[in-house]
Amino acid sequence: KKIVIAVDGYSSCGKSTMAKDLAKEIGYTYIDSGAMYRAVTLYCLQNEIIENGVVDEVRLRSAMNQIHISFQMNNESGKPDTYLNGVNVEKEIRGMEVANHVSTIAAIGFVRQAMVEKQQEMGQQKGVVMDGRDIGTVVFPNAELKIFVTASPEVRAQRRYDEMMAKGEPAIFEDVLANVKKRDLIDTTRAESPLCRAEDALELDNSHLSIAEQKAWLLVQFNR
Ligand code: C5P
Repeated sequence: KKIVIAVDGYSSCGKSTMAKDLAKEIGYTYIDSGAMYRAVTLYCLQNEIIENGVVDEVRLRSAMNQIHISFQMNNESGKPDTYLNGVNVEKEIRGMEVANHVSTIAAIGFVRQAMVEKQQEMGQQKGVVMDGRDIGTVVFPNAELKIFVTASPEVRAQRRYDEMMAKGEPAIFEDVLANVKKRDLIDTTRAESPLCRAEDALELDNSHLSIAEQKAWLLVQFNR
């Protein structure tokens, strides 16, 4: 049996839906590492550590030990909700404001170090599906199964846009596309563990796959 499954890839490529579904199907625990970077970003916004897009790294460094992130299953949605210092922030961390700043926060070395440590700790339990950008390369280089998901920026922006509209969040397609491209650029060019495919990761381009087709493909990989 696999113990850790790493799912990495670009923003809004459907990694989390895929990782969540797979975890449910095979009885593993799903962990959303991006939610952790989002929660740190929310903390920074709430405490004015980010102002006009500029991060006060000195203040953030000393605030790191006051940022406690945890997950708790939401029985209604069947998905884990993210908690920041005991407060459910699942809704806030998915908004555009956090999305616009999260890649900047995730590019800071000491933030990554703290998150990676916490993720490795959470991976101690057996049977984890974790999604993110560096799970197969940095967090769990020995993961038994690694998937690297890709899809074109337009397809990804459209999915994200549809999701926001379905939730009743106001969105403009061009803004969502610009955000997807901006995050791709920051994520792939940052100095600290840039987004890239682990050598032993299987690549999945899901631009033209339905959720069902994708799931079938994943189960084949899992059962290998
Ligand atoms: O996956 P999600 O879009 O929620 O991640 C939000 C952001 O957090 C990404 O754009 C990326 O900058 C960062 N991230 C990261 N490493 C991870 C997960 C997310 O740098 N393992």
